[in-house]
Amino acid sequence: MSTHPLIAARNEGPNALLLGMDRGQLADYFTGLGERPFRAQQVLQWVYQRGELDFGGMTDLSKALRERLTVEASLQLPTIRSEQRSADGTVKWLIEVGAGQAVETVFIPEPQRGTLCISSQAGCALDCSFCATAQGGFNRNLSSAEIIAQVLLANQSLGRRADGGWPVTNVVFMGMGEPLANYRNVVPVARLLIDDFSYGLSRRRVTISTAGLVPQLRKLAADAGVALAVSLHAPTDELRNELVPINRRYPIAELLDACWSYADGPGGRTITFEYVMLDGVNDSIPQARDLAALMRGRPGKVNLIPFNPFAGTRYRRSPKQRIEAFRNELVKRGALATIRRTRGDDIDAACGQLAGRVADRIKRRLGAKLRRT
Ligand code: SAH
Repeated sequence: MSTHPLIAARNEGPNALLLGMDRGQLADYFTGLGERPFRAQQVLQWVYQRGELDFGGMTDLSKALRERLTVEASLQLPTIRSEQRSADGTVKWLIEVGAGQAVETVFIPEPQRGTLCISSQAGCALDCSFCATAQGGFNRNLSSAEIIAQVLLANQSLGRRADGGWPVTNVVFMGMGEPLANYRNVVPVARLLIDDFSYGLSRRRVTISTAGLVPQLRKLAADAGVALAVSLHAPTDELRNELVPINRRYPIAELLDACWSYADGPGGRTITFEYVMLDGVNDSIPQARDLAALMRGRPGKVNLIPFNPFAGTRYRRSPKQRIEAFRNELVKRGALATIRRTRGDDIDAACGQLAGRVADRIKRRLGAKLRRT
């Protein structure tokens, strides 16, 4: 059947899940059926542009092909278990992904755009000390279908805008999980989001956020050149080792080197560095100076995120004046810096508050492994 390395496993069997396959994967699937590869473009348009999930309704496919797909293929979406609306218009969905697991997806409306924050894993194995997702541990990678389904479900559930367009105009991989730890499933989704036969979002409107998995980051520009955000959070390895333990494997100098190379690629231009403001931990003026020095002459901008608390955390949010002083120090030293407006915190939908429902499987094991290195 298919020779495409990314779908070898998923394409077998009588019920091929077509959701989440990028154009190349889908073209391989149709070639495998003895069909012309451009069937992929037609199906992408039906599913992602028109929201048609019934093969029977895809009227520009032959009747025989429609019947065959109805038997042999599927576009099954996961189900929404609950929906919560914040006073500021933010919407959070809890989406079931089987075996009692559920992940969260957040829609953040703004006057000129609608940003969807999607999850890439059920839980997270990276164990960042200030993140609620880390507390719940890790269960598994989401499939490409489960990741792109979040966009479909959000668009369906919000309904088309007055001008006929879908409400989701920007997508950020900033929900639960570390997207680059689920590289093989995240890449087809990133490609789908920017494919003109699918959603056709511009590369600048799709952002992958990573805690810093350097080997995958070095491949990403060639595989899916979308915008990049990096969770930096500390200007020195000593502090970053504590906040973002993956730093012990890929320290700051190595990470930044990979970032500056990424900036030369198609999704590049400017890399966003996320920096969560933790009271008395990483928010001093000398730390702002060190951070500005890392950015000097580089295509980076710093996005300061006021810490969002969750049950059991030992951290507190830096006071507003300190966040502003930190930003001013960065700007004074020539760095680009903004402060992220907190959205949806009344429904625990803000950055770092997504917990979902995850049965932890590996957290202790990975924690032990990281402590040894
Ligand atoms: N694993 C990826 C995707 C998560 S993105 C990454 O680390 O980039 C979510 C962003 O919110 C990251 O920058 C993360 O560091 C930040 N974050 C995590 N916990 C937070 C909290 N409690 N308050 C504010 N931001 C937080």
